[in-house]
Amino acid sequence: MSRTTVATIHLGALRHNLARLKQLAAPARVMAVVKADAYGHGLERVARALDGEAEAFAVAALGDGLRLRAAGHRQRIVVLSGPDNAHDIAEMQRLQLEATIHHEAQLQWLVQAAPTRGRLRVWLKIDSGMHRLGFAPERVAAVHAQLQAMAGIDPEIGLLTHFSDSEVFDGEQTPAQIARFTEATGLFVGPRSLSNSAAVLGWPAARGDWVRSGGLLYGLSVVDGRSGADFGFRPAMTLSTQLIAINRIGKGERIGYNGTWTCPEDMPVGVAAVGYGDGYPRSAAAGTPVLIGEQRVPLIGRVSMDLITLDLRTAPAAKIGDRVVLWGAGLPVETIAAQAGTISYDLTCGMTRRVLFVED
Ligand code: PLP
Repeated sequence: MSRTTVATIHLGALRHNLARLKQLAAPARVMAVVKADAYGHGLERVARALDGEAEAFAVAALGDGLRLRAAGHRQRIVVLSGPDNAHDIAEMQRLQLEATIHHEAQLQWLVQAAPTRGRLRVWLKIDSGMHRLGFAPERVAAVHAQLQAMAGIDPEIGLLTHFSDSEVFDGEQTPAQIARFTEATGLFVGPRSLSNSAAVLGWPAARGDWVRSGGLLYGLSVVDGRSGADFGFRPAMTLSTQLIAINRIGKGERIGYNGTWTCPEDMPVGVAAVGYGDGYPRSAAAGTPVLIGEQRVPLIGRVSMDLITLDLRTAPAAKIGDRVVLWGAGLPVETIAAQAGTISYDLTCGMTRRVLFVED
């Protein structure tokens, strides 16, 4: 294995996770959310792995839909925040992508573009309390009527909202959002989509007709203190590198930039070839674990661009050339994210171009 930092993408885990999502979400159907290059796992790779199983994909923007069509995928594809201009509309029709209509400006583009070739499928996005994208509940009836009156729009208009706090299973925000969405949409027929991954786990009342799940598809959880594995999902990415040096450093010596960690005794310090230049978080605190074999070994000192330093007192048998797992099976990425003050999605999305991607 090369010295290079390697992201191994586990295609079987992706398929397992989609099957588990379908089981949990039933009778709702599952949109596989593959935005942001499939949360850093590789859009084409993930779509290919799921092609036989995924009923629909969801992407952030038109360009990702184009990539999926170019790769030959025939499923429904929902663009979660587009069209972004009038031109996009014809392109979305050509590619048979489904639009998310969340703003007055898009209504004008629809009028201008006047889709004619076939009928554009649209989802009407309601702002039920996240205050990011969507129409205020009181605007929904008028916008729905306007969309229905447009000749080029498929009469089956989807109704969609997004939760801000669905991972807080005992919180008040999600029930409030469900109530606002239900009230705003009660009069309309058409498929409903409310839930993201955490809502699939914690808010069965929000199932609707389609869930939109990204995180759990990759085995990632944003539920505080719980990893995807705790809910029966498998990590789809293992990030690993190599141990390239072991040095004996004396008691009282400082390790790494700014000497943020001091050796409490004479001890072996390992150096692994990964850093923030690969996407390993610079903010990872001392004590963040890595895996060498079965052994958890704590990081010490600052994360550098290309290197991290490790307290090898816990792994005296470690030797130069050993693989060092940064996250994956046996070491949940959620653990690393918590040590770095972020969420697991941020880490998998953050792999840089020098990381070698392989599949198994
Ligand atoms: N729906 C929308 C509108 C989103 O922005 C996202 C992701 O942020 C998702 C669904 C999927 O969320 P998750 O990855 O938590 O399942």
